[in-house]
Amino acid sequence: MITLQSPIAELTRLDGDKKIGLAKLGIVTVRDLLYHFPTRYADESQYVSIQGLTEDTVATVRGTIKKLTAKKSWKSKMALTEGVIEDVGGTMTVIWFNQPYLSKMLHVGGTIEITGKVSTYKDSLAMVNPTVREEKALPIDSHDSLFASDEHAVLTPVYPETRGVSSLWLHHAVTRALATLETIPDHLPAELLKQNSLPTLKTALIWIHGPKTKDNAIIARKRFAFDEIFSINIARQKERLNIKEQVAYAINTESVDTEDFIKRFGFPLTDAQRTAIGHILQDMEHDVPMSRLLEGDVGSGKTAVAAVAAYATIMNRPFKATDKPLDRSVRTKQTYGSLQVAYMAPTEILATQHFESFIELFRHTGISIALITGSGCRKFPSKVASNKDNWTTISRPQLSKWIANGEIPIVIGTHALIQKSLTFKHLALAIIDEQHRFGLNQRKGLAKKDTHFPHLLSMTATPIPRTLALTIYGDLDLSLLDQLPAGRKQVTTVLVTPDKREDVYEKIRAVLKEGRQCYIICPRIASSDKDAKDTIAKLQMKNVTTEAKRLQEKIFPEYRIGILHSKMTKEKKEESMYDFVNHEVDILVATSVVEVGVNVPNATVIIIEGAERFGLSQLHQLRGRVQRSSYQPYCYLFADAKSERTQERMKLFLEAKNGFELAEYDLQLRGTGELTGTQQWGISDIGMEALRNLKLVEAARQAAITLIVEDPTLEKHPLLDAYTKPFEKMHFE
Ligand code: ADP
Ligand code: MG
Repeated sequence: MITLQSPIAELTRLDGDKKIGLAKLGIVTVRDLLYHFPTRYADESQYVSIQGLTEDTVATVRGTIKKLTAKKSWKSKMALTEGVIEDVGGTMTVIWFNQPYLSKMLHVGGTIEITGKVSTYKDSLAMVNPTVREEKALPIDSHDSLFASDEHAVLTPVYPETRGVSSLWLHHAVTRALATLETIPDHLPAELLKQNSLPTLKTALIWIHGPKTKDNAIIARKRFAFDEIFSINIARQKERLNIKEQVAYAINTESVDTEDFIKRFGFPLTDAQRTAIGHILQDMEHDVPMSRLLEGDVGSGKTAVAAVAAYATIMNRPFKATDKPLDRSVRTKQTYGSLQVAYMAPTEILATQHFESFIELFRHTGISIALITGSGCRKFPSKVASNKDNWTTISRPQLSKWIANGEIPIVIGTHALIQKSLTFKHLALAIIDEQHRFGLNQRKGLAKKDTHFPHLLSMTATPIPRTLALTIYGDLDLSLLDQLPAGRKQVTTVLVTPDKREDVYEKIRAVLKEGRQCYIICPRIASSDKDAKDTIAKLQMKNVTTEAKRLQEKIFPEYRIGILHSKMTKEKKEESMYDFVNHEVDILVATSVVEVGVNVPNATVIIIEGAERFGLSQLHQLRGRVQRSSYQPYCYLFADAKSERTQERMKLFLEAKNGFELAEYDLQLRGTGELTGTQQWGISDIGMEALRNLKLVEAARQAAITLIVEDPTLEKHPLLDAYTKPFEKMHFE
């Protein structure tokens, strides 16, 4: 019997090409097949069949690629791509000049849509340089654009395809699966469907793959959107409840003079910082573990907030050990030693920078601070230290021992902090910088032998829209730093026209001459890093490797140029950043990896190439890199700004001051697919579309909260329990 779990091969015979193609699309089981949704619906009536083409007219043809060859024209050595396209009526030749990337982008067996003028070539019908349509998912909110044309069209599903697996084949396979499956049990409670006027799973599947009307397809997509947002919320609410059941150290904040500590910063806190500190201290007063996300633009001063939280914590004493520390009623006084704080940063450089600033901030308290990274450990203070900061390197086993017996109150580090061999004695607070998700198990893992559960302060500079935050951070409480410290210079941002490129280089030369440093951001890593999914535009973009070489040879021979991108090893990346931090490199040519908060105050200029390729909030974060000092910062954008949409987006970017505003624009303008780091959130395209719909998100969230209150362990909803399990493991790092 065929079930949702059956492998596709049991449903239909597969040849080698299909097997490879399906695997590429991530389709293994019948269930995968049914959840491979169409990206849009084509109206067959708008295409001209090849049979019916007339010479010298412009037409749109939809067909399968039968042949594809890349050549060089023998006379001019010009790149030439030649293809044969077939539809039900016949075949035609298609020729593209000077677009060599097309032969990599397109593939035999795939379906394309081309528009161009019909001509003849070697006695057969042909099109020369027709435009090729690239298929993209369209938002459920702009319903009409999902569909080719009017109400009575024949709606043919168009799927994401790959070599050997065409839309037509997928359509047949899905139809067969739906006819073969005896039942498709629905994990959503019937009552919930009724309340929200949503179809059952089976109906929704039938409608999304073969809608009779546009409304069928829209309501089916709505069901899957709701389903996904609801399921993520169920997982988050379950986790939230789980954490609330744990017991944390209650921090007595009354007895701690945080004002005295804040005075040492040498600057007044912003109102936003004060509010966030208020939230945090209030949370930590309780023995229910805090789970708070502190979201604030680059440079909004999250470290200072974290420092105050750490200070309040270490000024408290641990509880006396009891036999039953998890029983809230037998909790006794906190007596000896001090509570501990773990502060985790995403890179070694950042961890080291935090270590150095914490030494400054905590020097007067006389407490010990440790740094632990992949390349070694440090401890402050030290009698044998030979540096001005008074720290010394120590062995990891020695440090582990001191952390385990509670002698070191503040431990700063990279991922090395959460390794198994490290045990805290009284871990009360975990601060996580730029690592958004840190779940129940990781928190338990950190605490290990300690029966108490650490408070969690998670910090991020990634501005995300409200609907996304409500969904993926549904288990966290949110504090916003929506204010930059006073006196910060605004970054002068300029959209540069191509003819002014040389002028910009001269301006940069002047800044470099004064001893400052510069970032140059490219959208790609190397000219060779392409894959089948690349769009034409992407293949033409500037890349780090080639651009760094060009700048070194042609533009800035007198300056030291470094590179940084995600394909470098972790060590190489760190090395490259260190060189830049230590000013052994003047210009850093990089991809958007520099986003992750590193602090180089001497870098005051950033050039962003191919700016139209980045999300607005991502551009904003990149620009934030140069807003860290008292020098006037500059951001120069190079963008292919021919399209109206790009112009509109660039205008928004030049005008908006705040990352949250830009994240909302991103969501509305480009779809979340292009929001910073979206891929890593693991939400499907349909789920992402749903995030534009605040009403839907709030309804799904409320429904999840209600259901979890009624049935916390989902014992009354076993199907839902099984269905939402994978969402519990969803990782957003
Ligand atoms: P981020 O939020 O990006 O982590 P940081 O915590 O690194 O920002 O702060 C950026 C810089 O701003 C640091 O040099 C910090 O000392 C300084 N800073 C933080 N808060 C204030 C403030 N209220 N007034 C002035 N400078 C501040
Ligand atoms: Mg930071």
